[in-house]
Amino acid sequence: MRRSVQHESRARSTSRAHRLQLAVAGLRGTICFHAPLKEYTSFHIGGPADVLVQPADVEDVIRLSRQTFEQRVPIFVLGGTNVLIRDKGIRGVVVSLAKLRAIREEPGSVLYVEGGVGMPTLIGYAIRRSLAGLEWAAGIPGSVAGCVVMNAGTRLGEMKSSVKAVRIVSPKGTVIDRQAESIDFAYRRSTLPLGIVVGVWLQLKPGLKSDIEKVVKDYLRFRRDTQPLSLPSAGCVFKNPKNDSAGRVVEAAGLKGAAVGDACVSTKHANFIVNQGQASARDVLSLIRKVRAKVARQTGVKLELELKLVGQA
Ligand SMILES: Cc1cc2nc3c(=O)[nH]c(=O)nc-3n(C[C@H](O)[C@H](O)[C@H](O)COP(=O)(O)OP(=O)(O)OC[C@H]3O[C@@H](n4cnc5c(N)ncnc54)[C@H](O)[C@@H]3O)c2cc1C
Repeated sequence: MRRSVQHESRARSTSRAHRLQLAVAGLRGTICFHAPLKEYTSFHIGGPADVLVQPADVEDVIRLSRQTFEQRVPIFVLGGTNVLIRDKGIRGVVVSLAKLRAIREEPGSVLYVEGGVGMPTLIGYAIRRSLAGLEWAAGIPGSVAGCVVMNAGTRLGEMKSSVKAVRIVSPKGTVIDRQAESIDFAYRRSTLPLGIVVGVWLQLKPGLKSDIEKVVKDYLRFRRDTQPLSLPSAGCVFKNPKNDSAGRVVEAAGLKGAAVGDACVSTKHANFIVNQGQASARDVLSLIRKVRAKVARQTGVKLELELKLVGQA
């Protein structure tokens, strides 16, 4: 009896490993089994991915989507700057679009930007081409695709105001172009069809290079003065409650500097949890629970997570 249970579980894991192999077969990009995801996140936290894939181009994304769908292997897209990956990592395929980094100019101050382009690179490009409209995003480290999915924003603006259309590869490998009018963007979320965002059309406007550069520099300085940028983090942990700021309520509850292991509520900005060295996801989650409980007790506010919690505990 015992032997047959062992046999079954070995057979299951062999077939899972085989399905993973088939899911990534024939790709031209980079494939890494048992990839340590902490190296791919701004928090420097997270267990391994069964397999991490960096597709070479959109054709590769299409092939990967089709094969993972056929093999019933789960797929997760990782930019890495607003996620907390649990300590046992992510089962299935994790996709990084780091190799999709082309930017193409189209008539009428429109940019077609591949999903893996980082916001800092994109803003640098816009400054060089005297294109205004993205200054609000100065200092956001995520990919342009991640910023669309999350409808990233600051007190100066939001992603939704520049998005003209989005290109998505569906789970079955079909390319879908969605106009912005058919997408609902809300506070840190959007309603996009299921799939991988591989490109975005952005509507910008001609501007004066020196003006654009000034706004960007001023905002970067403001961030350096108010955010703990020298330590690993995932940006803001909680969404702002209605008509208030999460940082303010956490600070008012006396939680600046509260810590579990190496995870600590920043003393510079209370809506950031920083990794002071070897913090685990378990440390961060335990600190989050502590913060939520104290804030709820003292103010009645129920803080909601902004960062995405993924993977296995
Ligand atoms: C220091 C610091 C400052 C920050 N400041 C801000 C800020 O001011 N404002 C703000 O809004 N955010 C901020 N962030 C958070 C983060 O940069 C943004 O939320 C960004 O939009 C996340 O992009 P990402 O590529 O890292 O995606 P991730 O964080 O990896 O992913 C976020 C979600 O989007 C999904 N996703 C990512 N890429 C794709 C894709 N190609 N196709 C489909 N789904 C995808 C993921 O699966 C996940 O569900 C900050 C982060 C840090 C570390």
